[in-house]
Amino acid sequence: MLKDIAPIYHGKRTFLGLKDLVVSFYTEKCQFSCSFCDLSSRSSEESVSEEDVIKQIHWVFDQYVDEIQQFQQLSAGNEGSILDRNRFFEGAMEYLLERAKEMSQLQVLSLETRPEYIRAPVLEDILRKTNAKQADVTVGFETQDDVLRNEVLNKRMNRNHFERKVEILGDLGVRLTSYVMLKPGPYMSEEEGVTEAVKTIEYLHELCTHHNTGLVIYLNPTYVASKSSLARTMKKAGYKPPKIQSVLRTILSAQPLGIPIYTGLWCENLADETGEFSGRDDYDKRFRNAIKQFNKTQDPNVIKQYQDLLQE
Ligand code: SF4
Repeated sequence: MLKDIAPIYHGKRTFLGLKDLVVSFYTEKCQFSCSFCDLSSRSSEESVSEEDVIKQIHWVFDQYVDEIQQFQQLSAGNEGSILDRNRFFEGAMEYLLERAKEMSQLQVLSLETRPEYIRAPVLEDILRKTNAKQADVTVGFETQDDVLRNEVLNKRMNRNHFERKVEILGDLGVRLTSYVMLKPGPYMSEEEGVTEAVKTIEYLHELCTHHNTGLVIYLNPTYVASKSSLARTMKKAGYKPPKIQSVLRTILSAQPLGIPIYTGLWCENLADETGEFSGRDDYDKRFRNAIKQFNKTQDPNVIKQYQDLLQE
């Protein structure tokens, strides 16, 4: 039984204009071993009981009791796949959805998962039980480059399989949020990183349009998780994390597609200072502030004002 019943992470943010409660529950660790990821180090080696997961849910709602009615989005994960019922049990999901009804203004319920766990009966059950107007699943597709995704990043995420899951989402009216990594290849130049991220966004846009699936892009400037296996390769390659300017360039290039883009600006304390964009000599925090504003408002003008400073 857990002594500490707080989840791994909990916090507030404004996600595309919505007040969002973000929670990452402590469960058995993710069984995949993507080369760039060290999230599993924060999870349990063993199964965490349904009772202990429920205690964490209880703890979170207790913690935010005074503002629970103000949240418009709930983003829940477990550093892996919250739809994996062997880790986040069915009873725990039911309890989470029941407690989420206290969020009287809830618009979006966002659940982070691998595509393997996207199954119509599971989603239908969630859709029946949630009070949110929009259900969303957040998936780390990362890059449309199959070799990069599966051989370098070791995602083991088959494109056809992913596409079938996006079709299920479209059929059920569930939105997809997809992580897109900016410059994930150890040998990528800045230019190649931006080009690849834009290609990935274009691919996701086309796929989701085809299946009538709502889409949000969650852009992640790659950070080097110090204890990840990819970190060694990146060190040998002399890899530098992307410039913050490249994030702005990616957003501007993808902007004509009209897809909401949120950028993750935090390395979750998994990288040292040279392993993320803010450790670069050319880091300029004006750009970070612009991205933070864009995350909240999606107003392109906060980024366009710097257009002249973004050339390579
Ligand atoms: S990226 Fe996701 S699927 Fe891969 S190891 Fe990390 S948590 Fe698991």
